[in-house]
Amino acid sequence: MSFSDITGNARIKKILTKALQRDRIPNSLLFSGPQGVGKIETALVVAKALNCLNLTDDACETCGPCTAVNKGTFPDVMRISPEKDILKIDQMRILKEAAYLKPMVGRKRVFIVDPAEKMTMQASNSLLKILEEPPSFFHIILITSNPFVILPTIKSRCQVLSFSPVSRDDIARCLIEHDFSEEKAKILSLLVRGNLKQAMNMDWEEVRAEREETWQLFLSFLHREPPTSFFKEYSVRRRGVVEEEIRSTLELLASFSRDLVLIKENADSKLLLNPDFEDLLREEAGSVRLEQILAMLELIEGLLHSLQRNMNIKLFMSSMISDVMGNHHV
Ligand SMILES: [Zn+2]
Repeated sequence: MSFSDITGNARIKKILTKALQRDRIPNSLLFSGPQGVGKIETALVVAKALNCLNLTDDACETCGPCTAVNKGTFPDVMRISPEKDILKIDQMRILKEAAYLKPMVGRKRVFIVDPAEKMTMQASNSLLKILEEPPSFFHIILITSNPFVILPTIKSRCQVLSFSPVSRDDIARCLIEHDFSEEKAKILSLLVRGNLKQAMNMDWEEVRAEREETWQLFLSFLHREPPTSFFKEYSVRRRGVVEEEIRSTLELLASFSRDLVLIKENADSKLLLNPDFEDLLREEAGSVRLEQILAMLELIEGLLHSLQRNMNIKLFMSSMISDVMGNHHV
């Protein structure tokens, strides 16, 4: 991959390209941002550009160093990942020993630590000195989707680049380039909240099942019928997973509501977020008032917002159901 193969985050690619052109890449970088937005890929492009034989501001993808980095066999570019879910001080010791040696075959030594939040306190502290006074040929790129657990002393010694979720349009475009149909691309881009990697790897059958299930839930909310057993199964699963699933359900519910508004307002079908549900949506459109759908949409947006705050999931769900149903006996 070169910079042009990385979807989204144009601003960051520009900053890095400029820094590479001026030979001013900071010795210590921290790439922070949500999962699946290309942080690792970007770090690898930087590592290749620093060693590429043909280019100085990008990876040519054909020279010896670029191909070796891609295969994971270039001795001056090292990726350090957790062993048993933690990055230990021993791993940092190896990193530091290698860091002070001149590059073996390339121009720069690059260490990519991913995910950096898995560093133990000891491991983090052991890095401070080299971050403070790095050899000129040493580069380290720390990668994290959870910047709040990185020690402030580490953060303050790195230049932090914050990656954004990939936009819905960019995700859809990238999926179409990878031979997804336009309709699938649109639907997947809606479901993954900016996580391009997830969009590329989703199982279409699972996606279809989830949307069918959520459509049923949407109908029961729309007609104020008590929901099916949909929410009960959540209670036994891990909190993080539950939150993610509720978020995804709420976003789907919001997308069905938005589509219903569009149909009520006679908008162009091309604008629908769920084109494959158009017939079903049209059937429903006749029996609900616009104000009712708008109120439901507002409520769902509010729920998505409150999900971000650290709420008790059980309480959240019972209040969600009673709110959406407009019935406090549920
Ligand atoms: Zn190259």
